[in-house]
Amino acid sequence: MEGTLTFLGTGTSMGVPTLGCGCAVCTSADPHDRRLRPSVALRWRVGGRERLVVIDTGPDFREQALRAGFTHVDAVFYTHSHADHIFGLDDLRPLSFVSFRNGGPIPLYASRETAAVLERIYDYTLSPSATYPTRARVAIQPLEDRTRIHEVDFVRVPVMHGEMEVSGFRFGNTAYLTDVSTIPEPSFALLEGLETLVLPALRHKPHPSHATVEQAIAWARRIGARQTWLTHIAHELGHVETNRMLPAGVAMGYDGLEVPVMLPDALAAGTSAEA
Ligand SMILES: [Zn+2]
Ligand SMILES: [Zn+2]
Repeated sequence: MEGTLTFLGTGTSMGVPTLGCGCAVCTSADPHDRRLRPSVALRWRVGGRERLVVIDTGPDFREQALRAGFTHVDAVFYTHSHADHIFGLDDLRPLSFVSFRNGGPIPLYASRETAAVLERIYDYTLSPSATYPTRARVAIQPLEDRTRIHEVDFVRVPVMHGEMEVSGFRFGNTAYLTDVSTIPEPSFALLEGLETLVLPALRHKPHPSHATVEQAIAWARRIGARQTWLTHIAHELGHVETNRMLPAGVAMGYDGLEVPVMLPDALAAGTSAEA
């Protein structure tokens, strides 16, 4: 069964353009140089209905959901608790009211560490005693090694973001990793046989918690996906110039990019029923 991966945002934490900056990329007229905070959505159809999962809801989530025309969200996976990945959680509210009427709150899959931060920041939403009438109807769920959402398995891929362990995700022949400085050896085994890989590349200059373009290229070669797309990109990297220096099979991601995803064949029964 085929799904679609949409790049909702491909920028670093500050977004591009960066506030107050007049550099060539921040003032570029090329729409590929405008990057919202990092997030992707996976859509697929099963049982005659479109299913939609979002990875991270950063501060630009509302704008991203409008651009991509979301009418519902079935689940959210969180990579980690930094502001550029969680500060749009509250904008799930209107979509969550619809979900709640149709069966229940939107599940938010988060590690224990991420859940603790979400519960602190969104106490008025997530506390068991929350009573605010228009709070988001969402419910934190523990993030397991493998989570099945409407017949699609999301496999957690642990990676290091500086000192912090964060989650990447694999679904079918595609994997999405953001905010990575090191990929632990056992995680490479979870990334075998990929068609499409999304890797972060902040800039050329080293950073303690983020990969450089050169690191991303080295991982892309080792993992060997047919196509690797870069994300979590800072204003040091212009889209056109950087694409020119990238090897074949590695390219700059950009907001609005859509890539087909093959989802596992365990779904054959579900898809044929739909057809
Ligand atoms: Zn980030
Ligand atoms: Zn981060």
